[in-house]
Amino acid sequence: MFLRNRLLSLNLTSFSSPPSPPTKSLSFLFSFNKTIAYSTRKRPHPKPKVSASRAAKQPLSDGARFAKTVLFVPPGVDLEEVTDEMILPGSNIVLGPYAGHSQIKEVEFVKSSGRAKDCPKDDRPEFAILGRSNVGKSSLINALVRKKEVALTSKKPGKTQLINHFLVNKSWYIVDLPGYGFARAPDAARTDWSSFTKGYFLNRETLVAALLLIDASVPPQRIDLDCANWLGRNNIPMTFVFTKCDKMKASKGKRPDENIRDFQELIRENYRQHPPWIMTSSVTGLGRDELLLHMSQLRNYWDQ
Ligand code: GDP
Repeated sequence: MFLRNRLLSLNLTSFSSPPSPPTKSLSFLFSFNKTIAYSTRKRPHPKPKVSASRAAKQPLSDGARFAKTVLFVPPGVDLEEVTDEMILPGSNIVLGPYAGHSQIKEVEFVKSSGRAKDCPKDDRPEFAILGRSNVGKSSLINALVRKKEVALTSKKPGKTQLINHFLVNKSWYIVDLPGYGFARAPDAARTDWSSFTKGYFLNRETLVAALLLIDASVPPQRIDLDCANWLGRNNIPMTFVFTKCDKMKASKGKRPDENIRDFQELIRENYRQHPPWIMTSSVTGLGRDELLLHMSQLRNYWDQ
């Protein structure tokens, strides 16, 4: 049985798969009428142990008041109580009472699995990290754990198409999933992701959330939007982690914050409550500590 409590869900309405894109435009997303609700997974019977760390009582600025409409408000927080100080910089994430110890002291590679049912069978919570090939997944994992060899393990030939479990602080897992959308991948590679990774998401009871990595240095990509929508339709809690936010504007392209805004616009239509999102850079370390804090509050909530 799934240990889910859809605390934040609002009128979940499933909808059929989006049609194949008739044009190159991404505007097809706006035609969806139905809404994906964001959900938060947890074990039953919460017993909060961690106290709020940032509860300053200053009034919201205009920007933050506007941002309230798209904030991710975690369990244990009343939207009306949110102050500027509670919003993690470079994100829409409000820090709540479940945020706690977040730093990574030790990490060990546990195993590579070819099927969801071969994954570790203990009851520890886990976060799955996924994204398009070249999105910066290995760099982000290495930045999170501050070790070079961790994601290198999963880049070894033969392990890139496996589910790789890394045990953090002996208490929770980072799960490195195969990349999707190889530029010139044969259809078979895409199908692989369909059956294999989707099987993981649909069957993994200990999954707290998926971290869906999106490259902020390029415009929204159809394959990322499809992936986000598939996760949403299947009630998989997710956080959008925008990577490469240090990259300067390409000569003709848009800045990372503009690409992020465009992505949000395309996604917004499909959610009653916007999923959490955060800007990161593995080059400058932007967003690293904030992402770990966010993960700690999801984990602690799940774990109570
Ligand atoms: P993966 O295929 O998703 O594991 O991607 P990698 O972590 O191997 O990164 C792909 C490329 O993007 C490499 O050339 C990295 O150096 C570069 N990259 C990754 N993260 C960042 C980032 O935060 N900023 C910049 N500027 N480049 C990055």
